[in-house]
Amino acid sequence: MRISPPQIWRAKRSLYKLTASKCNRCGNVDLPPSNFCSKCGSSEVSVVTLSGNGTLLLATENFQQRAGYEKNMPQYVGLIKLDEGPEIVAPLTDVIDEPKEGSRVNVVLRKLTTDSSNGLIEYGLKFRVVS
Ligand SMILES: [Zn+2]
Repeated sequence: MRISPPQIWRAKRSLYKLTASKCNRCGNVDLPPSNFCSKCGSSEVSVVTLSGNGTLLLATENFQQRAGYEKNMPQYVGLIKLDEGPEIVAPLTDVIDEPKEGSRVNVVLRKLTTDSSNGLIEYGLKFRVVS
């Protein structure tokens, strides 16, 4: 596996925080961000950073990972309804008991993997259950 620092640098806005677009006309929030509102079609959109707070709609345990991420197995993956409106499928972290539907979650930055060829660490966003 190979982590590319230039590639991560270019994508840093979306890798380390939840960035979305918000329509200046109707207020709709699109994730991932778009140049057009998915609800009304307006091109008057602004880039916003979401709070990272949401509600867990459902969760499942994943026993498969792509090469280089095997240390994360098994891992819970959740469908999360963010407070700003969009839904996102994301990995869950710090899971002690089986996650329950309706639990409140928030986004955290976590280590995803270490590149064995050069020792670089890849970080990414996960969600943890807070209540
Ligand atoms: Zn709109």
